[in-house]
Amino acid sequence: MLVLAGHPAVPAVETFLEPGRIGGFVIVPSLIGAEAAQGALRIQDGEVPEGLPPPAVDAVKPVFNWHQMQRWNVSEASPHGSESSREPSFLERYRWRVIALTAAVLVQTLLIAFLLHERQMRRKAEVEARNQLSQLAHINRQATAGELSSSIAHELNQPLGSILTNAESAELILGSPTPDLQEVREIISDIKRDDQRASEVIRRMRSLLKRAPFEKKEIDLNQTMREAFDFLKLQASARNVAIYLQTSPQTLRVQGDPVQLQQVILNLVVNSMDAMAKMPYGRTIIGRTDVNGAASAVISISDSGPGIPPDRLNEIFDPFFTTKEQGMGIGLSIARTIVLAHSGQIWAENQSGGGAVFHLSLPLAA
Ligand code: ADP
Repeated sequence: MLVLAGHPAVPAVETFLEPGRIGGFVIVPSLIGAEAAQGALRIQDGEVPEGLPPPAVDAVKPVFNWHQMQRWNVSEASPHGSESSREPSFLERYRWRVIALTAAVLVQTLLIAFLLHERQMRRKAEVEARNQLSQLAHINRQATAGELSSSIAHELNQPLGSILTNAESAELILGSPTPDLQEVREIISDIKRDDQRASEVIRRMRSLLKRAPFEKKEIDLNQTMREAFDFLKLQASARNVAIYLQTSPQTLRVQGDPVQLQQVILNLVVNSMDAMAKMPYGRTIIGRTDVNGAASAVISISDSGPGIPPDRLNEIFDPFFTTKEQGMGIGLSIARTIVLAHSGQIWAENQSGGGAVFHLSLPLAA
């Protein structure tokens, strides 16, 4: 064994390779041991020691210590047949695991990218669907406004007529030698009240006709029902329909778009009026609001019309289903789309005493 300070040390036997020797042509005791073991086994199997062949193993091998080769800057390109004690690198040792792990990470990344893309596409589709819904709903509201236009005109004419009459009376009073100012004050307050009435009609008409995006906020369903029924009062009386509203005593807070929910109510009530159009008398519509347990609010609108043929009860909500000559068949399908967009449900049934009843349930706000 050769050990020189500042030089690589060369051991004679492989056993002394570690630590700190570079290696070289060394005796490998394990080879001698293996041949001796072979001989011992043959003797055990009955052969006589003298009969065994003389040791033939070449126990001197070129063996190198990889760390020391690095240290002494010796090239790895060692002579053919030499052995090196080089430790395999991390990549060599765990090659398959590294490949499997990289593949798993890659697949996962692709999967995440795909899911994100899917989510984005779904959001886009949802926004598009909502836009389409609000466009279609707008067309339907225009049609409803058209149907209600005569009663709206009447509703506007009434306060405008009173304003004119009151203004003329005030003029006459003021023209007299001793005008009764108290009466003039009362007339002016009447004029202000009628003006507010007319403004309210225009406000309701505007909100019905405005092209607003679908927008939910916390509302009181009783209030929404009241406003819609107020809107329909005149149309009902023009069509000889008695219309009643019974609201629940408690406030019904829901997350909703008030314009669109009013549109659903208008559609249902106008349909009821249409259904009763051929009846000579007894045309009645009743609107009700109530709670169903702690979780949902329910609106129902019933009429005293002919009802819906039982085999058509589901069909009536399909787009373009109509039994009317001038019907578009989109009122109920829009109503259903709006209610579904509010996470609610809408269904129709026939009452035992005759006439149809439409129910819609909406989740109560937490
Ligand atoms: P349209 O009013 O244009 O026909 P809708 O979708 O609003 O479209 O209504 C679809 C159909 O449902 C009506 O044509 C009618 O046959 C039926 N329908 C709706 N409401 C009632 C009701 N209250 N009573 C009887 N039939 C009704």
